[in-house]
Amino acid sequence: MSITRDIKDFALDIGYSKIGITPADSFQDHIDEVQSRGEIYDYYLADPRQLLQGAQPKKIMPSARSIISLAWDYAQKAFPEPLLGKVGRIYQARCYNAPPDRINGARLPLMMDFLAKMGCEIGKGIFVPERRAGARAGVTTFGKNNFAYTGKSGSFILLSSIVLDKELEYDAPTYSVKCPRDCTACMDACPTKAIYEPLKLNPRRCLAFNAFSTQDERPLVTSYIPPEIREKMGTRVHGCDVCQEACPRNSAKLKEKYPEDPFLVNLAEEFSLTKMLEMPDQFYERTIRPIMYNYIQDKKYLRRNAAIALGNTGDPDHVPVLALAMEDPEELVRGYSAWALGRIGGPRARSILESGLKREHSSPVIDEIKAALADSAGS
Ligand code: SF4
Ligand code: SF4
Repeated sequence: MSITRDIKDFALDIGYSKIGITPADSFQDHIDEVQSRGEIYDYYLADPRQLLQGAQPKKIMPSARSIISLAWDYAQKAFPEPLLGKVGRIYQARCYNAPPDRINGARLPLMMDFLAKMGCEIGKGIFVPERRAGARAGVTTFGKNNFAYTGKSGSFILLSSIVLDKELEYDAPTYSVKCPRDCTACMDACPTKAIYEPLKLNPRRCLAFNAFSTQDERPLVTSYIPPEIREKMGTRVHGCDVCQEACPRNSAKLKEKYPEDPFLVNLAEEFSLTKMLEMPDQFYERTIRPIMYNYIQDKKYLRRNAAIALGNTGDPDHVPVLALAMEDPEELVRGYSAWALGRIGGPRARSILESGLKREHSSPVIDEIKAALADSAGS
């Protein structure tokens, strides 16, 4: 049996849904695309990890010969109703950049161990453009919404790539868009029109980007989310699945009945947006961290997102918890709670905002309170 067959059998045996292999050539089209939209992708180009270098694997690893692309279907168990519309499915599935001591984080190291035992040298820290690698390795096709699709799993897949030094048998590329020609359902459904034309996304308008990439510590982004985007976030505190839910290529997968995930069922029972705003330590460790570990390390960003979500419910029952948050030591939490109170409106919310304005000393929070008072003036 060939080494290629051994590798593919092993991948499928440990749960991958699909595997393909492509030569370790550059992804020049990816480089051209990102550079041609440098204004939109300035934060990506400024990332200290130099992400674009991964599009030229041989520059980082001269011995590189092949890229293995692996797809894992993360929608094999049911997603509890209370979490849908709040946390993206890929995060609920605990598979995106999962830590190696968790089952979904152990799969890729297992694969790498297997390859190392077969005598392969494996590239480290090479950020291959996963969706392009998947398409070139015959694993996925593109959707106009920019997601990668594979067979019955639709776009609910986690893609991973491994660069290695062995020449293997290569798969035929599936480098194409397989959407019905006239379909625009994803673009129509996107709340912020972030997909401005097929295969073109403005990440700064994407709700997922706004929920977790807007952090002050990152290059060329800040924690500020424009009010127009906050309103469109609804109750989505981590990720957004709207353009995947609208997609006819996912409809069979979305209709399928799956067994419960008991871990998620327990977690969903404890999950609440008000608690997320307050974020007691035990709640964070048991309920938030297991499904939101991948992008946000500082709780203040998660609490900001919870404040936005509470404001977007428009429910006056949330005024007391937001009033408490207006006295929080963290200015980001105070500022976004002010926005949420303005969004809910009403005399009680106004009075809390007015009291907050009298004692507030942070100018960004003062600005938020003044804007919230102006917004709620007619309510
Ligand atoms: S993830 Fe949400 S906001 Fe982002 S492009 Fe898709 S529908 Fe639009
Ligand atoms: S909604 Fe339509 S256009 Fe968008 S990715 Fe799905 S099939 Fe393609």
